[in-house]
Amino acid sequence: MKKSTGTFLKQAGHDKINRSANPAIVRASTILFKSIQELRAHQKNLKKDKKISYWDYGRQGSQTTIELQKILKELEEAHHVFLTQTGFGSVTLAIMSICRPGDEILVSDCVYRPTQELTSKMLKEFDINTIWYDPNNLEDLKKKITSKTKLIYVENPGSNTFEFQDLGKIISIAKRKKIFTALDNTWATAYFLKPIKLGFDLSITSATKYYSGHSDVMAGTLAVSKRVYKKVKWFNQISGYRLSADDAYMVIRGMRTLDLRLNKHEQSANIVARWLYKQKKIIKVLYPFKSSSKNYKLWKKYYSGSSGLLGIIIKSKNKSSVIRFINSLELFGIGYSWGGFESLAMYNGAVEMGKRNFFKLNKNEHLIRLHIGLENPKELILDLKKSLKKIK
Ligand SMILES: *Cc1c(COP(=O)(O)O)cnc(C)c1O
Repeated sequence: MKKSTGTFLKQAGHDKINRSANPAIVRASTILFKSIQELRAHQKNLKKDKKISYWDYGRQGSQTTIELQKILKELEEAHHVFLTQTGFGSVTLAIMSICRPGDEILVSDCVYRPTQELTSKMLKEFDINTIWYDPNNLEDLKKKITSKTKLIYVENPGSNTFEFQDLGKIISIAKRKKIFTALDNTWATAYFLKPIKLGFDLSITSATKYYSGHSDVMAGTLAVSKRVYKKVKWFNQISGYRLSADDAYMVIRGMRTLDLRLNKHEQSANIVARWLYKQKKIIKVLYPFKSSSKNYKLWKKYYSGSSGLLGIIIKSKNKSSVIRFINSLELFGIGYSWGGFESLAMYNGAVEMGKRNFFKLNKNEHLIRLHIGLENPKELILDLKKSLKKIK
């Protein structure tokens, strides 16, 4: 029977040997073999990518991580999924697997701040040149492609600024020029968008966010196309990336309710966004809910849903009153990350945004990021309403 994603996520990962509804947590460094011959035969199978239920050494993972990989491979509709210890580990695994000295990497000028640092500073030291393109202008991307361009790295929507790009067009431009493509898909996850199916080679997700969903574990996933599989497999093997069995288990536990949580995040974020849009002190709501907007159209073209993370721009000459607005929220925590069950608020000034070439806040504008959690949205609105009064 063909299963919907929701049903699949409930039924996957049963442990047939122990008869438990969930996979066992298998912690292992050494894997024991009956003989040298058995070990060599197993290694041969590993090299040939034969389906396996255990590795030859714990750095590659264990039965628990294999179960998580199976679930993710199906969800992502990918050739293979690699696991890393953090979402940012998946960013570095993707980039380091593909880029070599002399290459150029075209990066959307709206990526996660640490990705900005990695590409512009760290890669530069290895003679890999980062070129920023305007996420709102495909022509800018096109004209920056050279014979050295190896990878186009996209984050969609943009970090904190939430601009949506025409993903299909980026893929066709890249394919014509034989350039690899990567997408940081943490905002939507493969539940709302399947990057590999769309044509990307590398699909990055911080499993710290919605996959685990409970703010108690860090992990990253990198789904890949067949085209880049060998490159990533090789770098993964020699770099020491690994996810522990305990953390993999926590991600599997989160995946059980991914559909339910994301549907609820989407519903509540829409309710809150529509209310925020009507508030005079808020001049912009950065979330795809207004059907006439360009971002909405680009979102609708590719995504089957939207998550709980949005931005608002507030205009005020009094910055400390904007900070007071955030501090006085009772139901929104103040802290990094998002994608857990709880609502969060964060102030993003020029420093937090890093150096952007194509985005500027106007004078007296303040960018605030809200994660709409699984609380009652009516209560979240009451909290926001009360705190907005602080803004002068
Ligand atoms: C959080 C985040 C990451 C990094 O994930 P960690 O698990 O915190 O390392 C990467 N990309 C995006 C878009 C993120 O939001």
